[in-house]
Order: sequence, then structure tokens, then C-alpha cells
Amino acid sequence: MSESLKAKIRDVPDFPEKGIVFKDMMPLLADPATLREAVDLLADWIEPRRPDLILGAEARGFILGTALAYKLGCGFVAARRPGKLPWKTVSASYALEYGENTLELHADAIVEGARVLVHDDVLATGGTAAAICDLAEQLGGKIVGVAFVIELSFLEGRKHLASYDVHSLITY
Ligand code: AMP
Repeated sequence: MSESLKAKIRDVPDFPEKGIVFKDMMPLLADPATLREAVDLLADWIEPRRPDLILGAEARGFILGTALAYKLGCGFVAARRPGKLPWKTVSASYALEYGENTLELHADAIVEGARVLVHDDVLATGGTAAAICDLAEQLGGKIVGVAFVIELSFLEGRKHLASYDVHSLITY
């Protein structure tokens, strides 16, 4: 685990609601050294899995997701909140650590057999990543890995992702 990255994660108690300790990665992104380190470490893990696409979860999965796609020479696909994508969509709803969420993909975003790497900032309960993996597979994609900056291991999110290769840079 990278201690330099961990030092740049800010804990925000009771956000967005009481009892949740929000892991804020904005200080990590704002520092050029840790931004580069996070992209490079994630890319090192992802590269041998040879993805065609990085599939990022709204919204913080877009930030490093596009940097990773650029660095690895992949395309980028966005999993978005309902009503944001203009074309035909497929959607999945799931429970969150706080509340519920629905995410959508463009129905033509993933071609049959595409190698897909799913990325988000935080692995909490795993519901978000599992739903995105499921959507990508419904469209014919092959999940070659699921990569996070932060993993809240006490929430056991990996249980939702047991059939996938999962990686995170910082574990709590
Ligand atoms: P989950 O589906 O429970 O794994 O939740 C993952 C999603 O919720 C990610 O997109 C995170 O951005 C967000 N999330 C959940 N818990 C936290 C937390 N404690 N701190 C920051 N983001 C969180």
C-alpha cells in the first residue's frame, strides 16, 4: 500500500450523512506528485490485463479513469446517473453504503468481446462496481479487472466482486 497516497486522503466525518466517514481524494488529486503516482500505480496493475476500455463510475471514477485510458491507449466509457446519457441506455439499480443509486451505460458503449477494466475511486460495499460489471457483461464485455484508489475493507465489498480480479491502492 502506498503511504504517500494514504497521507493525501482526508477523512470527513458525517458526510454526506451522519455515521459515514467520507474518504476525500481531492487533496491527492491536487498534488502533482500523488496524482502522478496514483495514475502510474493503477496503470502498472492494469496494463498486463490488456483492456480495450476503461469503464468509469460517475463521478469520481471519471477523473483517473480518463487519465488511465489515455496512458494505456484505451477508450473510455462513462457509467452515468439516470437521464444524463443522450442515446439508448441499459441501467442497473443497487444499494449503497448510504442510500440507493442507479447507473446507466449507452447500449452501444461496449462491443461484443471487448476487454473492460472497471474503475471507481472507492470500493465500499461493492454494489456500484458489481452493478457496472454486470451491465458491461450484459452488453457482451469481458471484465479483465476492477481497480480502485481506496478500499474500505471492513465493508467487505470484495464479496460482491468475488468472480473478478480486484485491486486497490489504499486499504482501510
Ligand atoms: P459501494 O457501491 O458501496 O461500493 O460505493 C461506492 C461508491 O460510493 C463510490 O462511487 C464512492 O465514490 C462512494 N462511496 C461510498 N462510500 C464512500 C466513502 N466512505 N467515502 C467516499 N466515497 C464513498
